[in-house]
Formats: sequence, structure tokens, C-alpha cells
Amino acid sequence: IKKIAVLTSGGDAPGMNAAIRGVVRGALSEGLEVFGVYDGYYGLYHNKIKQLNRYSVSDVINRGGTFLGSARFPEFKDREVRAKCAEVLRSHGIDALVVIGGDGSYTGAKLLTEEYGVACIGLPGTIDNDVPGTDYTIGYQTALETAVEAIDRLRDTCSSHQRIAIVEIMGRHCSDLTISAAIAGGCEYIVASEHAFDREELIQQIERSIANGKRHAIVAITELITDVHELAKEIEARVKHETRATVLGHIQRGGTPCAYDRILASRMGVYAVELLLQGKAGYCVGIQNEQLVHHDIIDAINNMRRPFKEDLMKVSEKLF
Ligand code: ADP
Repeated sequence: IKKIAVLTSGGDAPGMNAAIRGVVRGALSEGLEVFGVYDGYYGLYHNKIKQLNRYSVSDVINRGGTFLGSARFPEFKDREVRAKCAEVLRSHGIDALVVIGGDGSYTGAKLLTEEYGVACIGLPGTIDNDVPGTDYTIGYQTALETAVEAIDRLRDTCSSHQRIAIVEIMGRHCSDLTISAAIAGGCEYIVASEHAFDREELIQQIERSIANGKRHAIVAITELITDVHELAKEIEARVKHETRATVLGHIQRGGTPCAYDRILASRMGVYAVELLLQGKAGYCVGIQNEQLVHHDIIDAINNMRRPFKEDLMKVSEKLF
């Protein structure tokens, strides 16, 4: 392997820049040439590729988002589209590709390795923490800090006005962000995607605690479960307390990456290059019990989904 490329794919996350920087500087230190692919698989298909040097990644370690840009490109599921992408890489003499994204991006990378012999390594980049084969994804810890800060602010205004707040937190079908943010932010209720949502039970709990004299209540709920504005109206009508829903949305995706994410991303970027130099292809990188690990992408996707954090949920129940 002499020339490698790096791209970011799927939803962006704080720390992706630090991961790109890790790949670039890790590769240069091994005497490899490095190329940046702009706008994910879409840019790969359209040959949006530029050689990078060590100064291409100056001043990015502290910047959120991804300077390479990211994209969704469902066409990549089409084998002929992948064939063209492999051809583009070959035309630059590139033999390996580091893909920073989630499990969808991993699947694309694995296919590129198996079908066309491009040595691909996947790095977990998403705030959702929903990537198999790792305890943490790049961006998760930063998004958690952002969500907790938002909850703190809501708490101030809720206690002043005896208001009920519903906070919708990202994570798709993974409630790691919701549960951790709820514990750190002292939320009274958690609605997680991994449990069936019992609307009636939630409303009755809130009714009881307000009747017992609580001045405010904060409900943390994962996205894609219910329309939180409708839920707020329903709670307000039943509990007779002003209730507002706040959707944190893309605010959670942006911002300066925290130190943990910068370090994790840097380590993973350097590690990806080391794996490629060992001749590994079709693997994804993770951190498990504080150690960097790599797994076959298919094995990770099929067998390494982390179980729901039931232990954290139990802790949270004692704190409310
Ligand atoms: P994530 O990587 O965060 O899971 P997506 O699921 O949106 O995000 O995937 C990002 C991109 O990866 C898609 O837009 C597509 O280009 C590629 N991709 C996703 N799933 C597949 C698949 N099954 N086969 C090939 N490429 C895929």
C-alpha cells in the first residue's frame, strides 16, 4: 500500500476532522501518500479527490463538522456505481480507503473491499453511539455535553415557571444519548426507544409528582418515538401545568469536539493506517474497555450490537 484515501459519510459528527487528521498524519509518518475524498461516496463517484499534506489538516482538530464534507448517496448500494468508484480510486493509484461513518457506510466499505479489492477500514463517526463493535463512537461524548447543557438551561427556566419540559434527544433507535444526558441533567423521566412507550403511565407519573408538590419536571425522550409537541399538549391538558417540548435537533451535531472525542478520533485515525499497513481490509475500528480493537465489518454488524444500557436505566429510576 502506497496511496490511501479518506472520506466521511452519513451524518456528520464533532471529531470527524480530528479523525481525518489522524489518518493523514498517521499515513504521512509512514511515508504514504494521502488523498481526501470530498462529500462521501457521492464525491468518490464524481472523482472529487485531492491530495492532502500535513498542512491540509492544520487547525482542524478543534473544529466541528467535517472539512471533507459528508453526503448520503443511496446509489452506492448499486454494484455498478461501486465499480465506477473503485475505478476512480484506481485511476489515482489509490489502494486503500478509510471510511468514517456509521454501519451503512461500513457496509458500503466492506462491499468495496470484497468486490473490487480496495482495502477499506471503517471508523465509527456519529453522535448516536449506535455503531456495532465499539463502546463509543466519535462525536458521542461531545453531543452528550451539548444535550446536558441544553437540559441545564431548560431546568433553570422550568423551575422558575413551574413548567414541564419535554426534551427530544437524537440517537435514532439508540437511547444512549438520552439516558446519559437524562442522568447528568437530572431529568425526572426517560422515554427510551428500546422500551415500549407507555403514554398513560408517563402522564400519571407526572400527575402524581406534581400533586406531591414538585415544581417542575423534565422528560428526556429519544427522537422518532412520538410527536413531542402533541405529547406536550396532551400532558398540559391532563396535568394542568404549562408544558413545552424542545427538539434539540441538529444543535447536537455541531460544536467544538470535546477532548475525549479528539483523542479517540486521533487514536482511531492512526490505528486505521496501522491496520492497512498490516494488510487488513474490510475491518472496522472500535474502542472496547479502553482498548482499540478491530473487527470484521460483517461480524460486527451481525453480532456486536451493544445491548441496551439497562443498568443505567435502573440507576436513573433510583434518582428521580
Ligand atoms: P451511516 O453510515 O451513518 O449508517 P447511512 O446509513 O445514511 O449512514 O449510510 C451512509 C451512506 O453509506 C449511504 O448514503 C450510502 O452511500 C452508503 N450505504 C449505506 N448502506 C449501504 C449498503 N447497504 N450498501 C452500500 N452502501 C451503503
